[in-house]
Amino acid sequence: MVRGVEERVERVVIIGSGPAGLTAAIYAARANLRPLVLAGGLYGGQLMLTTEVENYPGFPEGILGPELMIKFREQAERFGARIENVDVTEVDFTKRPFSIRTGDAEYETQTAIVATGASARWLEIPGEERLRGRGVSSCATCDGAFFRDKRIVVAGGGDSAMEEALFLTRFGSRVTVVHRRDRLRASRIMADRARSHPKIDFIWNAAIEAVHGETHVSGLRLRDLTDGRTYDFETDALFVAIGHTPNTAIFAGQLDLDERGYIASPDGTSTNVDGVFVAGDVYDVRYRQAITAAGAGCRAAMDVEKYLEAAEFEVDSLARLSPL
Ligand code: NAP
Repeated sequence: MVRGVEERVERVVIIGSGPAGLTAAIYAARANLRPLVLAGGLYGGQLMLTTEVENYPGFPEGILGPELMIKFREQAERFGARIENVDVTEVDFTKRPFSIRTGDAEYETQTAIVATGASARWLEIPGEERLRGRGVSSCATCDGAFFRDKRIVVAGGGDSAMEEALFLTRFGSRVTVVHRRDRLRASRIMADRARSHPKIDFIWNAAIEAVHGETHVSGLRLRDLTDGRTYDFETDALFVAIGHTPNTAIFAGQLDLDERGYIASPDGTSTNVDGVFVAGDVYDVRYRQAITAAGAGCRAAMDVEKYLEAAEFEVDSLARLSPL
């Protein structure tokens, strides 16, 4: 399908469907902007790959990440947001209306909200990619159950690593966190939980240099960063939880990015292109929480509404001034 001149121009297209994108969709839909959400083939963002979310207000008992995202989606659809599970392959923000392409369609839109989030990072060491899905994973919720009574290693020292390690204690006989420093980056509550868990132990000041195994992970090569010594460590699985990279490749050259590849914004919603707004982890290096992403989505949608109102006012005024 090729949509274009013959089709109507969208008022707002939202790219991404995590908490930021879907909150933007709820607000834009309630403002009668009939938003189109290009949600990605795997919609829902990072919460789809997580387990219990305990810090999202309104759910005192906690809620599963995927369940929360389904609720976001249903709420957006209830107010008329159209959500398509497709990946955006190309954007052109240099012409107006803007053009946004997916595999088999092209959309034209007056405004866009970029809420493409960030993706899990990999260690990029020998064996990691080859053994992905065969013991190497970045998603404990997805793959943890394959390692019942097995030895598991988690790489990283942040909240994600602690969360993965704690979740994996349900399955593994032993969960070892390998961290490159001697201090965790994780929040106190998560660090304390992991440290006091009887099934979790830690290897500090260690880099994982290679993943061993033919058909399945059998071990890792570790380097002790205090003395440079390398040694092998037996494990059946490696869960990598070392942070994220912003999903901005399709915007390079069109939107200003900072040195780490996040979208640059002076105020957290606007970008260097008038009419293109940003929300969530694709901009926010600092907070990166579901609740802050949702707040950002709300702000972006409200700014889109104001932007369109101002643009329409301008068109109206010009029309009134034009000679008949
Ligand atoms: P993060 O806080 O950036 O932590 C990444 C961890 O991976 C750090 O310990 C880092 O080591 C390590 N690391 C990075 N690159 C590495 C490499 N190449 N090799 C080895 N180790 C490497 O990322 P995150 O844990 O994904 O958390 C991101 C944000 O989400 C945070 O704001 C966090 O609070 C939040 N979050 C919250 C929860 C929760 O509250 N339940 C759960 C998950 C995430 P260094 O410490 O040495 O830099």
